[in-house]
Amino acid sequence: MFSESPIKRRKSTRIHVGNVPIGDGAPIAVQSMTNTPTTDVEATVAQIKRIEGVGGEIVRVSVPTMDAAEAFKLIKQQVNVPLVADIHFDYRIALKVAEYGADCLRINPGNIGNLERVRAVVDSAKDKNIPIRIGVNGGSLEKDLQEKYGEPTPEALVESAMRHVDILDSLNFDQFKVSVKASDVFLAVGAYRLLATKIDQPLHLGITEAGGLRAGAVKSSVGLGMLLAEGIGDTIRISLAADPVEEIKVGFDILKSLRIRSRGINFIACPSCSRQEFDVIGTVNALEQRLEDVLTPMDVSIIGCVVNGPGEAEVSDLGLTGARNMSGFYLDGQRQKERLPNDDLVSQLETRIRAKASILDSNNKINVKDVS
Ligand code: SF4
Repeated sequence: MFSESPIKRRKSTRIHVGNVPIGDGAPIAVQSMTNTPTTDVEATVAQIKRIEGVGGEIVRVSVPTMDAAEAFKLIKQQVNVPLVADIHFDYRIALKVAEYGADCLRINPGNIGNLERVRAVVDSAKDKNIPIRIGVNGGSLEKDLQEKYGEPTPEALVESAMRHVDILDSLNFDQFKVSVKASDVFLAVGAYRLLATKIDQPLHLGITEAGGLRAGAVKSSVGLGMLLAEGIGDTIRISLAADPVEEIKVGFDILKSLRIRSRGINFIACPSCSRQEFDVIGTVNALEQRLEDVLTPMDVSIIGCVVNGPGEAEVSDLGLTGARNMSGFYLDGQRQKERLPNDDLVSQLETRIRAKASILDSNNKINVKDVS
């Protein structure tokens, strides 16, 4: 039971990272980055598969050395999800990974060295038909910009980004996306807002080094929420000091909150209080875990008593309203005759949610709803 998002997306050009479209109204792609040593092929492949397993659509892998480039080749052969190779200065690494099948190069043209090197990288990207991501970061702003602005400001970040953009423009290369990340929410938001007025290319959003799981998720939600609500942003990465799998989950939860994308179950649950007729928190946590594999977009309300239960259940695909011993059960907003025993709610609900998900899947012939 989804209402459409009122958000009007900023118009942009489109690029493709592998088979994933970015920009020009494409669904906002959720990505993450590996944190294993890239030279440990087995561990990196395993992590990429875990990221993909929870819905990650693009994975970035850092390639700091030529050894890592050789490992990247082997990794690429063993995974399906598109890979962005993250390179900082060495243009030869960029040429290597392009040859090895990278789906996007994250490299700042202004950091590569002379124009001939930049031209070699751009020619290779053109030849392989892969895009580039320009990534500016508040923590590594050029010295002269730090001096000019005194501190990282939105204008400084955007000026830095535009230097790289101008280089690509001068080489007639327009297949790129840009990020202007900062760990401060207002700095990042200001920079993205300004950048959105200057270029037509897609924007990759992120609050960099956001922090650990809880604080980082909150900071990212606030920052990206402000931008996404304004229609700014075409792909997102949540930077957490945590398992990359969590980055994907948080990313989709942000998009779900704004009704930009709906993937998996949207649980509506009350915080519970002494009126609860069953253990709301335990039930919701258990269901979230058991149903992680369900990608079907659906609203499920789990409410502890009749104060708010019926109202939420009536606008959910499936709802539970706490009552003594046997709780009220709703399907498609309709109260059912059947009641569910409070001492077996998790299993009973899991069965019914899975059944509803497969009906929705067969009706829609899709299992992910993207509002764009
Ligand atoms: S819905 Fe009922 S149980 Fe849940 S918080 Fe409100 S009053 Fe408490």
